[in-house]
Amino acid sequence: IQNREEVHLSLHNVTFQYEEGTEILKDINLSLKPKERITFVGRTGVGKTTLFKLILGILEPTKGMITINGVDVYEIPNSQKRSIFGYVDQSFPLIKGTVAEQISLKDESITREQIERAIDFAGLKAYVEALDNGLDTHVVSDTLFSQGQKQLFAIARAVVTSPPILLLDEITANLDSITEEKIVSVLEKASEMYTILSISHRLSTMIASDTVVILEHGRVKNAGSPEVL
Ligand code: ATP
Repeated sequence: IQNREEVHLSLHNVTFQYEEGTEILKDINLSLKPKERITFVGRTGVGKTTLFKLILGILEPTKGMITINGVDVYEIPNSQKRSIFGYVDQSFPLIKGTVAEQISLKDESITREQIERAIDFAGLKAYVEALDNGLDTHVVSDTLFSQGQKQLFAIARAVVTSPPILLLDEITANLDSITEEKIVSVLEKASEMYTILSISHRLSTMIASDTVVILEHGRVKNAGSPEVL
């Protein structure tokens, strides 16, 4: 996808069930405008994470289809996924390597400059500069980063390839208020550049959005602007 202004993500009658299970999601239809921010709200187990896995093309709908600019996401090769989607949840699995490699995941097509930009974008520049060897510091232990920093690093990892679409799975849950503020300001910047899909348990904790979709019993119960809902 060359032009971020032309990214159209659509869900067409998407139904999904895990093998032999009941239908988790039923007949979901959605169409997102470029740079729209949409939040899915619903109780634990309603299928929010499952919906993200479908959008990421990790799971295949039982019925229906999800497309980006008309292309079925399930047909997109894994090698292209990182240039289309940035995915952030509450985990930041470390890999063996340097701080820079935590961001690039050792993808050699990612430049130093892209890594630096992602670190800056996530508000981690000062922190990284203060490390003994900056970006080249070897991460030998999980304790190098606090929980809040891990969340910001996870954002840097997701945006390093400048994908047009970000998926954020409960990323402001379980954070102290300072980190939460940092993330809110990072997301404000992100809203100018990305189509952002996020997940929240409650309306009260959701991040700024243009559209809210309330899921109940596998269906869209309500959808509209946050003010109306
Ligand atoms: P939470 O808010 O707790 O993250 P969620 O809304 O994201 O919940 P999902 O994780 O999508 O919900 O799960 C939806 C339903 O699908 C749950 O009932 C869950 O038990 C079931 N489920 C999830 N993964 C699988 C799987 N691999 N096989 C079978 N059932 C699954």
